[in-house]
Amino acid sequence: MLNIDIDDNSGFCFGVTTAIRKAEEELKKGNRLYCLGDIVHNSIECERLKRLGLTTIDHAQYRELHNTKVLLRAHGEPPTTYAIAKENNLELIDATCPVVLKLQQRIKKKWEETEGHNRQIVIYGQAGHAEVLGLVGQTDGEAIVIESVEQIENIDPQKDTYIYSQTTKSKEGYSHVVAAIKEYVSKERICESFNSVCGQVANRMNDIGNFAKAHQLVFFVCGKKSSNGKILYNECRSKNPNVHQIESPDELDFSLTQGVESIGICGATSTPKWLMENCKEAIINNHNNKKNEE
Ligand code: SF4
Repeated sequence: MLNIDIDDNSGFCFGVTTAIRKAEEELKKGNRLYCLGDIVHNSIECERLKRLGLTTIDHAQYRELHNTKVLLRAHGEPPTTYAIAKENNLELIDATCPVVLKLQQRIKKKWEETEGHNRQIVIYGQAGHAEVLGLVGQTDGEAIVIESVEQIENIDPQKDTYIYSQTTKSKEGYSHVVAAIKEYVSKERICESFNSVCGQVANRMNDIGNFAKAHQLVFFVCGKKSSNGKILYNECRSKNPNVHQIESPDELDFSLTQGVESIGICGATSTPKWLMENCKEAIINNHNNKKNEE
């Protein structure tokens, strides 16, 4: 008897859900709508929205646009994006996630408050990631981004240091980096860290680990570009080596399901529920076809 569960806690976080809802509402009105960057790190969901009329553009194309509507996705944008909108008469539908927006404001405030002091802001995150670019933008581009303890030498130990994390990093990874920076920065200087990991990701860590442990075989459905996807996938793998990442049902390896009685399907905050359901359906169809052949 084959049992297949979809993890209740996997799927879009509220930031992504809101951005997609805003896009759908606008598209329903029949209006042309551009989105600056992929609305979600999931190519299949992006394709679905493209079919509804959403046009994804990059920053170079954005600079050339005039007199139209542009949606800003949950990751947020640096101040330059808003300045361009003003110059080019662009109407923004700002779907920046409130958690990211609050973090941008906190960083901007700290940067402005400490102006004139010998200070630096450090962001633990993925260099070049859209959210990180938005955060760095709050500091006139001056914040130092580090991805791991190995990059600690990019930080000046003789400056007051204020540390923040990209919202989708793991709490453990952040604590590790913060501890190393506090050791590294001169004891004569201020060195403060702020909790900025998003609860939507942090709270899923335990749950998803338990879910992975509870199944013989797990398919982790997630786009390759998802930052929290990497973290949640690694958490699953640490609890169950029989976890396999796929982007869509087309990538399912049915040979893995042979002789297995319990299969789990889970994903990241950028994975649509309907995609996990399609995976479940594909496994059931394959299972039934096999039985009919027997
Ligand atoms: S993971 Fe958290 S911060 Fe990022 S979009 Fe979702 S709710 Fe917002």
